[in-house]
Amino acid sequence: MITVTRAFKNYGDFSALDDVSLDIPPGSLTALLGPSGSGKSTLLRSIAGLESLDGGTVHIAGNDVTHVSPQKRGIGFVFQHYAAFKHMTVRENVAFGPKIRKLPKRQITAKVDELLEVVGLDGFQHRYPAQLSGGQRQRMALARALAVDPQVLLLDEPFGALDAKVRADLRTWLRRLHDEVHVTTVLVTHDQEEALDVADRIAVMNRGRIEQVGTPEDLYDRPENDFVMSFLGNVS
Ligand code: ATP
Ligand code: MG
Repeated sequence: MITVTRAFKNYGDFSALDDVSLDIPPGSLTALLGPSGSGKSTLLRSIAGLESLDGGTVHIAGNDVTHVSPQKRGIGFVFQHYAAFKHMTVRENVAFGPKIRKLPKRQITAKVDELLEVVGLDGFQHRYPAQLSGGQRQRMALARALAVDPQVLLLDEPFGALDAKVRADLRTWLRRLHDEVHVTTVLVTHDQEEALDVADRIAVMNRGRIEQVGTPEDLYDRPENDFVMSFLGNVS
């Protein structure tokens, strides 16, 4: 579904992506896991089209999107700190994407109702973002991203700013959401436990390269090198 082939990205002399190839199967929940500075966000942003590569290609659903703008890639994106429209209610925020795509009103209403229920915010739809908890705000962000029926959902440490308990609850919730909607999802995290817990597949990154890709069991039971072994062994 997503194929990155021989991707390179440099910042001056520094190589942020150094010959990265990765296949992300349709419908999977794949984690990009690695320490700070290993290139996870750079890779995710390259898939989104928010960074242009210095070499290599990105394909989504068989189409070469390497030079296609982010708006035309069919992606939903959620960052660690989500910038919602502060003057719009939760409902209006979720409805915004479908509205600017000029979907029929009745269709928008049905879609927004469904998504608010899926993310558990139906009771909060008339609140403003400032009146939500951090976890509720990130769930709204996910509903907003899903509202435009993306082919691909890209999540960059979406729960990173939240406390440990809320984070643990939200990752369980994300897993259930994924089982329900099946949209191909890439989750960036530096948290081994989060990756092992929610992902079908994990790509371990280090210094702009992918060290190993596999199921959580593969990586945990059969790490291919010392880096993977020590990084995964670091679960608290
Ligand atoms: P973190 O877990 O801290 O978010 P990351 O794995 O997401 O880290 P990236 O943000 O992809 O790491 O950055 C990879 C490397 O590229 C880092 O060393 C970073 O300093 C560098 N880098 C990223 N963006 C830029 C930029 N715009 N200009 C210069 N260097 C950059
Ligand atoms: Mg990052």
